[in-house]
Amino acid sequence: MNYIKLNDGNRIPAVGFGVLFIPEGKETYEATLTALRAGYRHIDTAAGYFNEASVGKAVRDSGIPREEIFVTSKIWIQDHGYEQAKVGIARSLRKLDLGYIDLYLIHQPYGDILGTWRAMEEAKAAGQLRSIGVSNMTPKFYREFIPQFKTKPAVNQMEFNPFFQQKELRKLMEADDVKLEAWYPLGHGDAKLLQQPEIVRLAEKYGKNTGQIILRFEYQEGVVTLPKSTNEGRIKGNIDLFNFALTEAEMNTLRALDTGKGAFDPEAPGIEQMLRENYVITD
Ligand code: NAP
Repeated sequence: MNYIKLNDGNRIPAVGFGVLFIPEGKETYEATLTALRAGYRHIDTAAGYFNEASVGKAVRDSGIPREEIFVTSKIWIQDHGYEQAKVGIARSLRKLDLGYIDLYLIHQPYGDILGTWRAMEEAKAAGQLRSIGVSNMTPKFYREFIPQFKTKPAVNQMEFNPFFQQKELRKLMEADDVKLEAWYPLGHGDAKLLQQPEIVRLAEKYGKNTGQIILRFEYQEGVVTLPKSTNEGRIKGNIDLFNFALTEAEMNTLRALDTGKGAFDPEAPGIEQMLRENYVITD
């Protein structure tokens, strides 16, 4: 596995296994174990995915030393605010049951972000969280909140793939040495992306599938990428990225596919309310 250095001195595996929408219980447990056996050392979950307990159990049962596995989770909107964030952090720590969390993110940029961040800084100082970061901070949210933080986030986890390359945001983040993590790295399985002719051509050239070309592009862009799959062949294939390299001309071809637009706009009216109403943690 290849690693990327974070601005707090920690390192993060460049490819992680995403578990969004994999149901809690047998499915998340088995998918996580399959990923760990395939060589992943980085799992991306969240309080709002409702599957932290199964991720934690798979990590504990894997037989791999805890310190070799990088686990990310995220605080959900209902736990924002200084006092309530302590409750959210404690809940994630309890459900994962792994002693500490390698990376903990503010999942969504709404509500009392500054209070939430202070609680996360304290949990980091106490050793409960090793690195802390944010997610879905568009340039507008980034400019609003990050200058007010005492500690810079280690990462900002955002929608990113060849069709949505976050060029404005990446400039802002580079100035603070904040690393980008890609969610929807395969466009959430978007057939238009996976069958894009330039990507198909490169897949034929390198004897890879189009998903691997896309993920390799993201890796070469210095982005931490988080593909999700419940299919064993695709789980294995999505980490088999380190035995070929795209040329600079090929990288430029893929850079030119950027449309500047994604599937999800965190600034859209009604999004915060929709997320608050539809995802509620009750235990
Ligand atoms: P994704 O990884 O872009 O796409 C997953 C979809 O692509 C699944 O339908 C999967 O189907 C399919 N797939 C996987 N590998 C493939 C391949 N090599 N070729 C063709 N199809 C392939 O999307 P995602 O799961 O929505 O996002 C990835 C992770 O990012 C999430 O699991 C989560 O950890 C994180 N995320 C974070 C946020 C946030 O707000 N911070 C939001 C969304 C996602 P099969 O399962 O059948 O293989």
